[in-house]
Amino acid sequence: MIKVCKFGGTSLADSSQYKKVKSIIDKDSSRRVIVVSAPGKRNKSDYKITDLLYLTESHIKYHVDYNTIFNQIKDRFYEIKNSLNLDIDLDKEFEKMKVKMDDGSMSEEELVSRGEYLSAKCMASYLGYTFIDAKNIIHFMYDGRVDEDKTQEAIENMIRTFDKVVVPGFYGIYPNGEICLFSRGGSDVTGSYVAKGVHADLYENWTDVSGIFMTDPKIIPNCRKINEVTYAELRELSYLGASVLHEETILPIQEENIPLEIKNTNSPDEPGTFIMKDCVDKTYLCTGITGKKNFVSLTFTKRRLADKLKVMLFVFRILDKYKIDVEHVPTSIDSFSIVVNKNDLEGKFYEMIAEIKQNPDIINVKVDEDIALIGVVGRNMANKAGTSGRILSVFGKEKINIKLIDQSTEELNIIIGISNQDFNKSIEVLYNKFAFEKID
Ligand code: ASP
Repeated sequence: MIKVCKFGGTSLADSSQYKKVKSIIDKDSSRRVIVVSAPGKRNKSDYKITDLLYLTESHIKYHVDYNTIFNQIKDRFYEIKNSLNLDIDLDKEFEKMKVKMDDGSMSEEELVSRGEYLSAKCMASYLGYTFIDAKNIIHFMYDGRVDEDKTQEAIENMIRTFDKVVVPGFYGIYPNGEICLFSRGGSDVTGSYVAKGVHADLYENWTDVSGIFMTDPKIIPNCRKINEVTYAELRELSYLGASVLHEETILPIQEENIPLEIKNTNSPDEPGTFIMKDCVDKTYLCTGITGKKNFVSLTFTKRRLADKLKVMLFVFRILDKYKIDVEHVPTSIDSFSIVVNKNDLEGKFYEMIAEIKQNPDIINVKVDEDIALIGVVGRNMANKAGTSGRILSVFGKEKINIKLIDQSTEELNIIIGISNQDFNKSIEVLYNKFAFEKID
């Protein structure tokens, strides 16, 4: 039996958190593969080591003395080493970094990855596990995607050779030997590739909350926790805005059907949330309610006789050229709308619209910059006549205007577009109506 355990930044913020991690690992001998983030915030006003490393990099880039920031980073690691009496040569590690930082041979990605690297070195020494550098097992291609075969083979080799290991999250290596980072929060993804690679029985993701909540606790304090969620539902929830795990976490473990459990390092005995292929829990109609603000809808009206598909393809090619992701595409006979993320348009909007307007078949472009999207997600909503009607009627009753509705035939989610100002209220009314509704 192998469990892969990934510990996030708050679980490793200082030596007292390290102690909690060790006691969790000591309780279960199948917790053999540990993936760690860099130390995170010790309290709300503190800084994450990763952020301090980015800041150090900016100092170097603009030729400003970086020592004050760098000393803060060092102090955080020395506190861990000294309080836990670790046999690890941090002086040498920091000296090596400094030489490369000063002679210009340290890339930004390498510098930032040192948070995870040193965190894993400390944890391996504390647990008496073998340190495995992520650059030996997580292989990227030049386009930034993971080389799945090479990564899988390297991880299989690793677990054949070593019984108990600690792996730094967040980074890997390009074919030319340079360090490559996942996007922020990427240690979750490392954990997932490692779980797949060792054919884990369970991927435990340890954080500072006891699982996933049904909606944003900032909007609904003490909201209901989700006990079980399918891979597909979780992907939808994260895509629609729930900030639980890194968006790319699910795919590697999904291929191997490895369940993931989100657990709380500060309350390890509390049940967490299970994420798996098929859930047995069929209690509630809705699994989660989530969403995001700040979308823009671009509505294109075409010449009546123009071929709609051709016009759409023309617009899509331009969106692709400007690297703009499309979220939704409601269509009608003579027009179609494209809903995109407002941030994606920054600095490109006017140029892109001008290019689109060059098509003589497009006779009008209307822009609505005030869209928030809310998604109600639930595996148990499928084939329940009346569900979407009841969801929509909540908006009517509260006099919240709906600008857009989207539901695929899989019926896993219903997405509703509203004005940004109605976002919190919509979440509240949907939660009050559906959070505890059971299926009959
Ligand atoms: N330390 C990185 C970050 O803060 C990666 C991670 O923790 O997953 O984004």
